[in-house]
Amino acid sequence: MHSKIFGFFNLGDGICWWVTTALFLILLVLIYYIWDLINRLKALARMNKEFERNLEEVDEQARLVIQTDLEMNEIQEKIDERMRALLALQRLSRIFSSSLEKEKIFAGFNSELLGEIGFNVCILVLKETQSRIRVEIGLEPERKKYLEKFLQEKNPFSILKQYPLIISNQNYAENDVNQWQDFISNNLALKFFLITALVMEGNVEGFLVLGNSYGIEDFEGKKEIAEILSFQLSRTLENINLFEELFRTKQALEMKVQERTRELSQALERLKKINKLKSEFVSAVSHEFRTPLTSIKGYASLLAKDKFGKVSDEIKMRLERIDQQADILVDMINKMLDIARIESGRVSVELAKDDITKVAQEVLENMQPQIKEKNLHIEFQSPPHVVFLFDKNMIRRVFTNLLSNAVKFTPSQGTIRIIIEESAEEVKVVVQDSGIGIPTEDLENVFREFYRVESGGSKEIKGTGLGLSLVKNIIVAHKGKIWAESQPSRGATFIFILPKKRQEV
Ligand code: ADP
Repeated sequence: MHSKIFGFFNLGDGICWWVTTALFLILLVLIYYIWDLINRLKALARMNKEFERNLEEVDEQARLVIQTDLEMNEIQEKIDERMRALLALQRLSRIFSSSLEKEKIFAGFNSELLGEIGFNVCILVLKETQSRIRVEIGLEPERKKYLEKFLQEKNPFSILKQYPLIISNQNYAENDVNQWQDFISNNLALKFFLITALVMEGNVEGFLVLGNSYGIEDFEGKKEIAEILSFQLSRTLENINLFEELFRTKQALEMKVQERTRELSQALERLKKINKLKSEFVSAVSHEFRTPLTSIKGYASLLAKDKFGKVSDEIKMRLERIDQQADILVDMINKMLDIARIESGRVSVELAKDDITKVAQEVLENMQPQIKEKNLHIEFQSPPHVVFLFDKNMIRRVFTNLLSNAVKFTPSQGTIRIIIEESAEEVKVVVQDSGIGIPTEDLENVFREFYRVESGGSKEIKGTGLGLSLVKNIIVAHKGKIWAESQPSRGATFIFILPKKRQEV
């Protein structure tokens, strides 16, 4: 057999070797492939494990993402809820600031708005009113009766001073607060509620109950909103109270003003009547005085002229004094008569075109003897002609009085200045002297009847205290104005202004 085999080998020696080698090679290739396959399978298993691990990680992360997403949604919902509540609050605060009427403010509360801030019951109680409950939303009539009874029996306002915020799910040591909590949760059937005090000008003037029958999710948010709402409401009601008080005071003041005005106009009427009576009396009496005075003057002058027999010089001197005094009396009576006539309107201003510069010069001319006697210096500043409508006789009396005063109250060597200025609308006249002057406190009074300055040597100079009153009456009758200026011992200045365009008086 051995030889057979060898024989076979021998037979096909070359072929046999090739076949064996080929088989061997195939075996090797197979082994290699199997080894490679095993390796690949191992790698696959490893990858599979890796994949499974990754898958688990992804799964874990997905779970995390979903959880975060859920949490985010929850937060978002809370934010949305708060936003809704804040927007509702904003709407309410707009209503609060848009009106000064409490009823309109209270009408601003409604169940829709309330729902948006997370409540379905709202009760607003104010101290000031009898029924006290001013806003009630979500409160059944039966429950309202309980509440009214409770408010009558208890005094909730004093508790609120101590506890301005009472919350349903909190414990309080005070028994009264517990009673409140029990009452509200049982009788008003509220699962969650807040009671906030309405504080105005430091006093508890009311309270606000906000609650719901379904409990709470966002406690802090609700508390915050209730606090903001009660704060805004308190400020609004405080402002309205202030406004109402102001309004009432204004009305009371207006009534007082009206009353006073009525009283004043009645007093004015009475005064006018009295003044008229006075003018009539003065003019009647003055008129009656004139006749005997004319006789006195006439007889004195006849006596002085020796018409009733020769009289001594001594008597003549006395008669002259009588004549002078009678002149003073006549002048006084004339002035009183004129004042009374102008005041009572019995004398009208007779306007005619004339030259005021000429009138002033004429008066000055007539006064030359007195001016020369005192050696006074006269300054006259005026345009050559100032022509307009005025009552010549009356304005002559104005110049006569002002200039005779200036001469009277200015010591020798003094200066008297007359200035006349003209504008399109008016004529201004200034009569200034360097005399004794007028104290500031007397400046307005000198135009009053019979007023004479008591101080500064004025009293020693004779006069009636009627001249300036007449002057003022004349200027006022011309629709002009007059005033005096003076600095102590620097002389007095009288200024009057006459309108040029006024035709009727
Ligand atoms: P009378 O001069 O007759 O007393 P008036 O009415 O003219 O009356 O004047 C009132 C008072 O005003 C005078 O008594 C005097 O005290 C004061 N007064 C008027 N004019 C002057 C003046 N130019 N200087 C100083 N005092 C004056």
